[in-house]
Amino acid sequence: MDLSYGPEYDAFRADLQAFLSQSWPPHGNEADLDARQQQQHFISKAVAAGYMHRNILAKYGGSEQPADPLREAIIGEEMEASGAPWRLGAQGVGMIVPTLLEVGAEWQREQFVEPTLKGEYVWCQGYSEPGAGSDLASLRSTARLEGDEWVINGHKIWTSDAQDASYMFGMFRTEPEAAKHAGISYLLLKMDQPGIDVRPLRQLTGAVHFNEVFFDNVRTPANWIVGERGQGWQVARVNLKYERNLGGGGHTRRSYHALVDLARRTTRGGRPAVEDPEIRDRLAAIECRVRCIETSRMRSLSAVANREEDKVGLSMLVGKLYQTDTSELIVRLAYDLIGSDGLLAPTDATWGIRSQGRSSDWVDQYLFSLGGAIAAGSSNIQRNIIGERGLGLPRDLRAS
Ligand SMILES: Cc1cc2nc3c(=O)[nH]c(=O)nc-3n(C[C@H](O)[C@H](O)[C@H](O)COP(=O)(O)OP(=O)(O)OC[C@H]3O[C@@H](n4cnc5c(N)ncnc54)[C@H](O)[C@@H]3O)c2cc1C
Repeated sequence: MDLSYGPEYDAFRADLQAFLSQSWPPHGNEADLDARQQQQHFISKAVAAGYMHRNILAKYGGSEQPADPLREAIIGEEMEASGAPWRLGAQGVGMIVPTLLEVGAEWQREQFVEPTLKGEYVWCQGYSEPGAGSDLASLRSTARLEGDEWVINGHKIWTSDAQDASYMFGMFRTEPEAAKHAGISYLLLKMDQPGIDVRPLRQLTGAVHFNEVFFDNVRTPANWIVGERGQGWQVARVNLKYERNLGGGGHTRRSYHALVDLARRTTRGGRPAVEDPEIRDRLAAIECRVRCIETSRMRSLSAVANREEDKVGLSMLVGKLYQTDTSELIVRLAYDLIGSDGLLAPTDATWGIRSQGRSSDWVDQYLFSLGGAIAAGSSNIQRNIIGERGLGLPRDLRAS
């Protein structure tokens, strides 16, 4: 097994590292700009240099580079290590852009893709409702066509970033008489308009990242529909494919190293915790999982590079679940190491680690890890998908 990328790719990595050392963190006049402007400057430079939005045509604001999964992987590794803002806009760049490129109308691509890539348009995802999460097709918010506009009524929940979003993509029931999955359409709408009420939901961590969104006769043009009327479920499936791909995995090893460091800095029975046999066992088990994630990623990468995508399917399905479980084991051990100090919010100076350039702490990560097993499809649902689609087991009982 050869785990190196080879000389051509090593040279590419060196050029990228040189670019990043010049470009992030910002210096000179750029250091005086506000955070958003700094990010936008970085994105335009990275697109111009061919390091971002590589698979997107230049006419839509991408850098239009030849497909090369190994270069993509190197870019991911180096960008993450540098803390550069390359993964901004999970819902925008991560979800609606690829969806519009795959199934949107040409005018929608022209109007929405480039400003979203540049960070000018911020999107939120209006799928979940109080009675429709895992069973998303039960959603009840409606859109009724009146002349040349859709009129939207209902209630979405857990809408990440709705408080900052300029636009929403969402699913609404447009054919009340049709069967559950067949009666849904996929609409785009402006968030800044009368009839939209965004109410923040405070999380366990104390932060406010998601919201409830209420619609009272909200309007959006008739042609702001993606795909055909009543075909929203099919469009959402395209989109969910990109959502499940969001979890990168690069930061698991850094979290693990931070955990080992924590085990060295904390004590058990008067000795460094890292010398305690039980802690060593738990660390070793986690290290095995981290290596499995890395090796599995290399295997998938080789398969994609060799145009053997059919070999990737099952490991992609397992990836999110395995990574979520591993992150939970990491933060749970960290929490045990911190002990009763975990009841207080620790500061960076005591327990903090840096992840993807943001400062966060173990307690925050511990509390947030519960959300990781729910967001983008809960772990139980992921297990069903692995069983049914990956292993060909009989289908789970469906209430409908
Ligand atoms: C951090 C975070 C961000 C989010 N951001 C957004 C967003 O931006 N936009 C948006 O629309 N939604 C968002 N969500 C919502 C998320 O998609 C839903 O929470 C998720 O789909 C689960 O739905 P639910 O909360 O209604 O739980 P439920 O569907 O009620 O599930 C409750 C429990 O039952 C289990 N369960 C349900 N059905 C089955 C089954 N058939 N077999 C086995 N077990 C089952 C689930 O695994 C879960 O443990 C976000 C959630 C989180 C945590």
